[in-house]
Amino acid sequence: MSSNILVINCGSSSLKFSVVNSQSGEQPISGLAERLGDAEAIVTIKTSNGNKLTFDISGGEHDQALETILNYLQQENLLDSIQAVGHRVVHGGEHFTASTIINEDVLNAIESCNHLAPLHNPANLIGIRSSQKLLNKVPHVAVFDTAFHQTMPAQAYLYPVPYELYQKEGVRRYGFHGTSHRYVSMALAEKLEKPLSSLNLISAHLGNGCSATAIKAGQSVDTTMGLTPLEGLVMGTRSGDVDPSLHHFLCTQTQMTIDEVNTLLNKKSGLLGLSGLSNDMRTLEQAASEGNQQAEIAIQVFCYRLAKQIAALAVPLGHVDGLIFTGGIGENSVSIRQRVLEQLTVLGFQLDPSQNELAGKSQLGLITQAGSTPAYVVNTDEEWMIAKDTQTCVTAGE
Ligand code: ADP
Repeated sequence: MSSNILVINCGSSSLKFSVVNSQSGEQPISGLAERLGDAEAIVTIKTSNGNKLTFDISGGEHDQALETILNYLQQENLLDSIQAVGHRVVHGGEHFTASTIINEDVLNAIESCNHLAPLHNPANLIGIRSSQKLLNKVPHVAVFDTAFHQTMPAQAYLYPVPYELYQKEGVRRYGFHGTSHRYVSMALAEKLEKPLSSLNLISAHLGNGCSATAIKAGQSVDTTMGLTPLEGLVMGTRSGDVDPSLHHFLCTQTQMTIDEVNTLLNKKSGLLGLSGLSNDMRTLEQAASEGNQQAEIAIQVFCYRLAKQIAALAVPLGHVDGLIFTGGIGENSVSIRQRVLEQLTVLGFQLDPSQNELAGKSQLGLITQAGSTPAYVVNTDEEWMIAKDTQTCVTAGE
């Protein structure tokens, strides 16, 4: 029987899963439980032959979603092939610099980071506890979004605020999307057949959340997200960088509370806020092409700020061996890549329009001309990275 890893990414009302073959990286079965706790809670499973099955688990929580998933795996004779479970955990604070086998101490340390990611870590813990209960014979491994960025030097991770806020409250930049940035940098080095230790890369993960990272010899040396995932680039609904006085300004000029401002910046800003139309780049590109000026300006702000931040990330690298576009927008949007590279001539990028059209389909995903600083499209695969780390931790622990 082949050896599989169950990868779980648990949110407060959702649970994403994937069964990953630990040798080949194939993902025969994956799925999503949504609206957990709600009367309309459902589990959707994408089967190995590409079909979609839906299970109604009305009112069901994470436990019930997992039971439904595990019953399905049992029915498909896959349950016994699960050798370990890999959990995506958003915030590992300064405790975790790498993925780790979960034990009571690890659970406590994750819990101690709850205040740093109040929307995510408690949900990740629910997923871990539920699956430990139901799959109690196999090891469970935590893979942190923040761990990759723990190599950032103090000059990159400290905010210029009183130092005791760092010491007492953990106020510093942590960075996120680490699993994706790590995966695409490794995948590119492999494609180029060069040691990662010889490359200075910038990766731009552009999905609903967006962040970019400077990666020197395989290590994150700076990134755009900070204490929370709100800092940095313009995102689907998050503003990214704004004047830090904006909270105060809005609270005093309008009747908004600090919580309302926080919701505004996280859920109603970014592409959605600027366009007044959508957080979805496809919708905005379509609307802009039909003459919608708000959609066009939202795209312009997104691309301009992204280009500026990429240029800033070249500073800790000295020189750039490659820029990677990944995530739903980075992998699929020909025009966003074009707009960004056209504003990065300062770093020596010269787009190859026909390669850009083909991106991902050409052998290396290269989208720039000969002689240009190279830019590539690399498809991310966080599930595979989590599965790989899980396998490595389990093997090392044996
Ligand atoms: P998540 O961060 O939720 O994993 P994804 O990585 O799937 O999100 O990225 C979602 C974003 O990718 C959306 O803004 C979506 O519009 C965008 N996207 C996907 N396909 C395209 C495309 N062909 N052109 C432009 N944007 C796209």
